[in-house]
Amino acid sequence: MSTDCLFCRIVERSVPSTVVHETDDVLAFRDINPQADTHVLVIPKEHYPDAASMAAADPKLAGEVLAVAGEVAKIEGVDSSGYRLVFNTGPDAQQTVFHVHCHVLGGRSFTWPPG
Ligand code: 5GP
Ligand code: ZN
Repeated sequence: MSTDCLFCRIVERSVPSTVVHETDDVLAFRDINPQADTHVLVIPKEHYPDAASMAAADPKLAGEVLAVAGEVAKIEGVDSSGYRLVFNTGPDAQQTVFHVHCHVLGGRSFTWPPG
């Protein structure tokens, strides 16, 4: 746990969030500033700054984050219509919270390549 990390505080429930799904090791909650009808963040409860550091340290946990992202897509009813999974990493990708999170975006059509 990192005391100055917003998402660690969401995990410990000292910062409120709207939880969509939870397992022993992973939490899924709605983004506070949604960019699509479905916009859920999936995070490991343990603190890692980004996806690569999580996958290097704990590949099983990285797999669980992806599995929960798939469950969230089903819960939100976008598994058939399609959805986008995004791990912003570093400044060029506009990462703003340095606790790894998978954006699950769905409910509309997305452009490719992204802007
Ligand atoms: P990033 O830009 O780091 O990939 O994404 C961080 C995301 O966290 C943003 O989409 C932002 O809206 C979301 N966010 C920031 N603060 C909060 C918060 O306090 N609660 C929730 N639920 N989402 C947040
Ligand atoms: Zn954290």
